[in-house]
Amino acid sequence: TKTHAAEKTYQIGMDVTFPPFEFANDNNKYVGIDIDLFNAIAKDQHFKINWKAASFSGLIQSVQAGQLNGMVAGMSVTPERKGSFDFSDPYYNSGVVMAVSQNSDNIKGLKDLRGKTVAVKTGTTGAQYAQSIQKKYGFKISTFDDSSNVYEDVLTGNSAACFDDEPVLKYGINQGTKLKIVTKPAAGTPVAFGVKKGTNQELLKKFNAGLAHLKKNGEYKKIIDRYLNAKK
Ligand code: GLN
Repeated sequence: TKTHAAEKTYQIGMDVTFPPFEFANDNNKYVGIDIDLFNAIAKDQHFKINWKAASFSGLIQSVQAGQLNGMVAGMSVTPERKGSFDFSDPYYNSGVVMAVSQNSDNIKGLKDLRGKTVAVKTGTTGAQYAQSIQKKYGFKISTFDDSSNVYEDVLTGNSAACFDDEPVLKYGINQGTKLKIVTKPAAGTPVAFGVKKGTNQELLKKFNAGLAHLKKNGEYKKIIDRYLNAKK
């Protein structure tokens, strides 16, 4: 018979507010695709998780400093990040879209952004995308540490628009955030669990093995459906 050594505990970072990937529910308990998936993988692969919430850019720094074993944050696998991270097999896909206030009728697309301000979250693919097209469309960029502050800046009218991940904006709008999406997804990427390059390879292997197992036994689909078919 096989005996398990004492279960290891890993320090895993998550974005502080990024529904449906991670958020505090009405009971102030952290839930979401990333949380439920990783917890199910931990159970399947016999390890424990100590969750740490921080801003997305803070998580990247903590992982690179070795203070966290890894991070899940609806994190996009990009060529640049592959220079300093090793990623698990992808578990979802995401793309960057632009959103404006539901009351706004004059900003229908990128070409309406000239002279306006756009809100993004520090260190994200949304921020990178905004920078990459900033010159062409002639807008200013305001950066924030988390998505709720990005949306708030648009809702108060300081920023004319924001760029963020499509599943996150869609989920938020479905839950009552008064924004609307006005572009098709750009900068699409797979989403995966990340560790500092060359470290925590054993954890990465466990994540992949657990993910494959959950995909096979239907648990993965259950978790995705739990959040992406959620209605208020
Ligand atoms: N998917 C985006 C990225 O990786 C946003 C992640 C996030 O804001 N947590 O940059």
